[in-house]
Amino acid sequence: GGSGYLGSHCVQQLLEKGYTVHATTRKLEKAEHLKQLKHADINLKIFVADLLTPGSFDEAFNGCESVLHTASPFFVGGDNYQKDILLKPALDGTRNVLEACRKANVKRVALTASTACVYVWYGKYDETHVMTEADWSDEEAVVKDENWYTHSKIEAEKFAWEFSKRDDCTFKLSVMNPCLIIGPMLQPVLNTSCKVICNFVGMNEIANECKAFVDVRDVAEAHVNQIEKDLNDESWGKRYCLVGGSPHFKEVAGWVKTYLSENDMGAAAEKVPTTVSSKLNPPKLGAPPPHPLKYDVSRSETLLGIKYKPVEESIRSNVASLIELGFLK
Ligand code: NAP
Repeated sequence: GGSGYLGSHCVQQLLEKGYTVHATTRKLEKAEHLKQLKHADINLKIFVADLLTPGSFDEAFNGCESVLHTASPFFVGGDNYQKDILLKPALDGTRNVLEACRKANVKRVALTASTACVYVWYGKYDETHVMTEADWSDEEAVVKDENWYTHSKIEAEKFAWEFSKRDDCTFKLSVMNPCLIIGPMLQPVLNTSCKVICNFVGMNEIANECKAFVDVRDVAEAHVNQIEKDLNDESWGKRYCLVGGSPHFKEVAGWVKTYLSENDMGAAAEKVPTTVSSKLNPPKLGAPPPHPLKYDVSRSETLLGIKYKPVEESIRSNVASLIELGFLK
């Protein structure tokens, strides 16, 4: 999934460290931006592969020691929001990717899951609950609510853990569970999580809730640091919740407004609301609104060495990318 938002940052970090990288995409045009990365001319090879086609990743993984499996459809709602469109590529895709890893005798796999697998509780816990890697989302409630993106991520993560226990599994597995990812964009298209920041411009009022965010550079670093670990390292075989902070949307709107103004985008800045909704949404992800998510990310700090960037900095760099790419006119 090297062409996507997170995938592109993983490719960038790996290239900067001097690795030879095989990136995959469904269409070569989608990966054009990767060719501009430092060292891409010598150390990057791009392959066409589709999660839905068995054997599709075999050629790309040939000769690879480690695999970062970031590819999965990420969208919520809209006309195409149907179970199969999300579940099939996530689950069958994870099966195809892990089978290809096994065939290629891959030794290390870092798989991108999500906090969608961890904190979609629909109010099961109150605001005092501290989220850790021991938590799992309430899958029954997720299915009842037809929350198909979350369902796809839970099923794919569970499948990966089962696969890693098989006798014929050749690799050590760790799973990354990031919350909403923001920060600078390397790809030219607007991905789902960066759209959340874009949507502040022209919004009627601010939702009275907090949101957990993490910087894309920290998430990529967690994947890269994991695959650099020795096979006997204690970091393997674990989930990692990746969260940089849980600010109120009011604070986020304020940062977006400020950074737009600072970048001569006064008209757009004026369209960022300051009024907070008087309505409270029902609980769904993490703490019930308007409370912030309480979380413990010490495992990722201790075992993977992640030093989280402040959310404010991630918003600043995200706004800069959105302006540069023309998404915030
Ligand atoms: P993105 O920019 O939309 O990237 C999605 C990636 O998945 C693209 O590389 C895309 O490749 C690939 N993909 C989708 N369907 C595919 C298929 N049928 N076959 C092959 N590849 C396919 O989204 P992202 O934010 O980087 O997401 C990356 C991963 O992070 C996903 O696993 C997502 O669930 C997870 N995640 C994201 C967030 C977030 O807030 N962004 C939070 C938690 C977890 P193409 O080039 O072929 O389109």
